[in-house]
Amino acid sequence: MTHTVPTEIMKEIEGLVKELNYNAYLYYVLDSPVMADADYDKSYRRLRDLEEHYHYILPDSPTQRVGAPALEKFAKVKHEEPMLSLDNAFSPDELREFDKRNRKLLSPDDVLEYTVEPKYDGLAMELIYIDGVLTSASTRGDGYEGEDVTRNIRTIKAIPLKIENSTVPARVDIRGEVYMQIADFEALNLQRAKDGEPPFANPRNAAAGSIRQLDPSITASRRLLLACYGLGFAKGLSLTSHAELINWLKQARFPVPAAFVMAKDIEEVISAVTNIEIGRQSFPFETDGAVVKVNAFALQQKLGMKTREPRWATAYKFKAHQAATLIRDIQSSVGRTGVITPFAVFEPVRIGGVTVSRSTLHNWDEIQRKDIRIGDTVLVERAGDVIPHVIAVLTEKRTGAEQVVPLPVVCPACGAGVVREEGEVAVRCISLHCPAQVQEKIIHFSSRGGMDIEGLGEKNVELFYSRGLIKHFEDIYRLKKEDLLELPRFAEKSADNLIAAIGKSKQAALSRFLFSIGILHVGEYAAKVLARNFRKLEDLYNISPEEIITIKQMGDKIAGSVSAFFSDPKNIDLLNSMVKLGIIITNPDYETEKTAGPLDGMTFVITGSMPKPRKEIETLIEKHGGHAASAVSKSTSYLLTGDDPGSKLDKAKQLGVKVISYEELLKLIEDKDKQPKLF
Ligand SMILES: [Zn+2]
Repeated sequence: MTHTVPTEIMKEIEGLVKELNYNAYLYYVLDSPVMADADYDKSYRRLRDLEEHYHYILPDSPTQRVGAPALEKFAKVKHEEPMLSLDNAFSPDELREFDKRNRKLLSPDDVLEYTVEPKYDGLAMELIYIDGVLTSASTRGDGYEGEDVTRNIRTIKAIPLKIENSTVPARVDIRGEVYMQIADFEALNLQRAKDGEPPFANPRNAAAGSIRQLDPSITASRRLLLACYGLGFAKGLSLTSHAELINWLKQARFPVPAAFVMAKDIEEVISAVTNIEIGRQSFPFETDGAVVKVNAFALQQKLGMKTREPRWATAYKFKAHQAATLIRDIQSSVGRTGVITPFAVFEPVRIGGVTVSRSTLHNWDEIQRKDIRIGDTVLVERAGDVIPHVIAVLTEKRTGAEQVVPLPVVCPACGAGVVREEGEVAVRCISLHCPAQVQEKIIHFSSRGGMDIEGLGEKNVELFYSRGLIKHFEDIYRLKKEDLLELPRFAEKSADNLIAAIGKSKQAALSRFLFSIGILHVGEYAAKVLARNFRKLEDLYNISPEEIITIKQMGDKIAGSVSAFFSDPKNIDLLNSMVKLGIIITNPDYETEKTAGPLDGMTFVITGSMPKPRKEIETLIEKHGGHAASAVSKSTSYLLTGDDPGSKLDKAKQLGVKVISYEELLKLIEDKDKQPKLF
């Protein structure tokens, strides 16, 4: 029986997959979440329900995998047993449902008991001990394969390097969460502000960012902790329940979750999770839920797995933290694309243990829609993993003295007039000389998601810019130690460190580089898509919007701005001079096997009048795995010539590029066996 899937459902599923995949990428790979966890969970559930109901599952659906691929810079480690994620429950009734489902699958004689522990908001890890010695530590990655962070994990003092004081199994894979306490997180952000580095959004990001350091000494300088709560593969360890495991871990001197309790039935579970939810205000660490597990391993085994998560465990999600506070001021900042973003300055308030003193208001439409005024008391929410945001204005607290903030008419950074394009919510400064934009561009370029130059944060960029040392990001690669030593903030060691960090950033993946240079509308995802489709940077030079639109994921807006960027000779000069200054761009994302067609890996340029419309020929080339480019270069495989070829023919001859006719192209497509392999 096949169901017919209504078009609007297919569209919704495709939209959800795209949205969730993009956010998973931001969350897992880049540690820079934009979507609230609760929203993510909601969308995820909606997708899963639709997939189940309509039997329509896209191959790249997030329900078909556990997380996101690991970053390229660490070695990879396979998990002997997959590290799965957990299903969620959002209310006591959903916990009762969970219990009911379990009971249905078990027999009446089975003694079903549960354990409850707080869910640590950190980074999941697997630690492998062979003959009691820590031999490997890796992140979860996509659940099957993670990043090897052994050297970094060893710097965490809470982790035993050797199992002592207990049974020592031949091998045991221990799962746990690396996290940072709230106080340590706040101290770290304070220090980063002093050093001119961007703050971490939350303790989870701080922990993840500290583990994913190529230099273990940086990890060592951060106060990280660990809570161990699970077992992967094990040999020579005979335990029968989760409670026994926790006991064994405790004996073996592993840190285990605080507030771990046993529950005889689901009502006891509900009262335990409620206690944790109330008590979490005073926990030194961040938690956004509690994990409920079936205690007996035999029953866990009997219950087994669904496609993506175990049936025997669930994560009970707490409501987001909220607090009321006063808006002291509404200010605005200018981003690297000239967008002027308003933000609220609050009377500092503790929300879920973290001090919050400002939050973005996104755009002026949002301010008008919510009618947010200076002097208003507002309700602010902070969900585990996102930047705080204003939920609502408490209008009953108004005194009449509140001030409405008008739409800006001039740029707060340079005083130039601002524009608001039709159909856009954003207000923009379009001055080419706006110092805020140049500085923001440089800050973005060197940020962690960008070229990752440790130590080149806001404060230092400001300093270098004001001294005329950096006018654009290429100048970063011209900085010398002597220049730095003349500045107030630098000494021998800090200058050496920054120069070393700059040197390290010279090796970059194309996707990262494309994201870093800040092309309008090109976020991490678009940059990745471009890297998958274009072998090297030069392939994008003078590209037409039409060529970009042939890529499935690319729309008019991105195509237009990418084409405009790479058609501007000033930009090309900038890129070329960066290459001259020693930037080496590699492209591990390029998908040579995406179509495996007869034209796989070949680049064609068309010139002269063709028997078919040009667009149609380009589509034909793409369909068979080839790539149609607009300019002849050394990487061009064939120049496809019709009548009256232009100067491209001369260029092709000069570079020794093969010249073929339309008929020969068709023959090439048919001649599957004899295709020349060029790359
Ligand atoms: Zn400006």
